[in-house]
Amino acid sequence: MPTTLITGANRGLGFEFARQYLDDEWHVIAACRKPGDSPALAELGKRYPRLQRMAVEVCDHATIERAATQLRDQPIDVLINNAGVFGPSESVDNDPGQSFGHIDYDAWGEVMRVNTMAPVKMVEAFVGHVALGEQKKIVTISSSMGSIADTGTGGHFAYRTSKAAVNMAMATLANTLSPQGIIVVMLCPGWCRTDMGGSAAVHEPADSVARMRRLIAGFTLEDTGTFTQHSGERLPW
Ligand code: NDP
Repeated sequence: MPTTLITGANRGLGFEFARQYLDDEWHVIAACRKPGDSPALAELGKRYPRLQRMAVEVCDHATIERAATQLRDQPIDVLINNAGVFGPSESVDNDPGQSFGHIDYDAWGEVMRVNTMAPVKMVEAFVGHVALGEQKKIVTISSSMGSIADTGTGGHFAYRTSKAAVNMAMATLANTLSPQGIIVVMLCPGWCRTDMGGSAAVHEPADSVARMRRLIAGFTLEDTGTFTQHSGERLPW
């Protein structure tokens, strides 16, 4: 039975990844800040007793290291860096703190810690587990808003730069880890109806996650270091 570890698995896209992989008979390790406080994960655990919940606050590196130690010798086929924040915004259309002239630099630092540094720390902590897995895949949920070729709508400084930077970090890791046969990819889920995406978003999480899971299943070492839209289209940096 293949195993996936997903960060931010208590809601949104992370929860949907957990639900779909469980439905597909995978062993799922759902990492989130307060696994005991998530009624959604509790319900999922009743349906699928093999669901394993794990406390990980991705900015608290001690919790990442503790989880990696607890899971010692556990192969992980697919590690999904999903946890993310948008930054100081009420919505994508109203983002005081991320607009030029009003930038909240402390908040920007926090966004970088969650969206950029934490995925790298997760790879540092779990690369040994992934190397033990059969599929050897590391997936980071990035965003087309991190594409330097697509800044037309402006604003959103913290979020855009954090996703551009995580793309650079993961593309670098792809080269570092390819000699071990480890595949490192970045995916954009599209604009999805979650707490982050809001109700006006165009994609249902279930549809986007189903498309991303199909892509993940098909990735080989030839794809390592790539940035792909949920539809399968390669995204420009
Ligand atoms: P949500 O806001 O719905 O969920 C975010 C998840 O990340 C929650 O589980 C949250 O946990 C977790 N998280 C945030 N900060 C931390 C932290 N410090 N430690 C641990 N977990 C944390 O977002 P989505 O599901 O929409 O987004 C998932 C990913 O997809 C993100 O990386 C996002 O940038 C990306 N994305 C989303 C898009 C969209 O339209 N929705 C578009 C493009 C990319 P908690 O409940 O504890 O806060």
